Amino acid sequence: MQFEELDDLYQDIILDHYRNPRNSAKLEEPHLKAEGNNPFCGDEVAVQISFDGTDHVREVGYQGRGCSISQASASIMGELLKGKTLKEIQAIHRVFLDVMQGKNTGDSSLEDFGDLQVLKGVRKFPIRIKCALLAWSILEDGIKEYDSHL
Ligand code: ZN
Repeated sequence: MQFEELDDLYQDIILDHYRNPRNSAKLEEPHLKAEGNNPFCGDEVAVQISFDGTDHVREVGYQGRGCSISQASASIMGELLKGKTLKEIQAIHRVFLDVMQGKNTGDSSLEDFGDLQVLKGVRKFPIRIKCALLAWSILEDGIKEYDSHL
């Protein structure tokens, strides 16, 4: 699928993450793991996280398959997680969710989050918004599961 209406720069960044996913090595003994899929598109994502001895993320693993949007989003997410606490990660997720759902349309709202801002172009393709949010919603479920066992 081509995204001809996406800004060329955004498209290049998305395709770069899709072709060269970051943190794709699976963590064998993660503290937190989550996986799930988006049946509308056939996307699958698995995420692993390990902490640094405090509550900050040290290592991230991500594996998956599916469309370029879902996989690029997971790769971008993985890069953002390192050094963050779960609370900080959930706060980013909330901002991203609002932006993707059109509740927060301020163009600067994702600027602090690296390549994440390129995904706001996906809002023009409502059916692909689920793809962009997949990794984040899977991780959110994983965090809730993890919290419930603390
Ligand atoms: Zn997809």
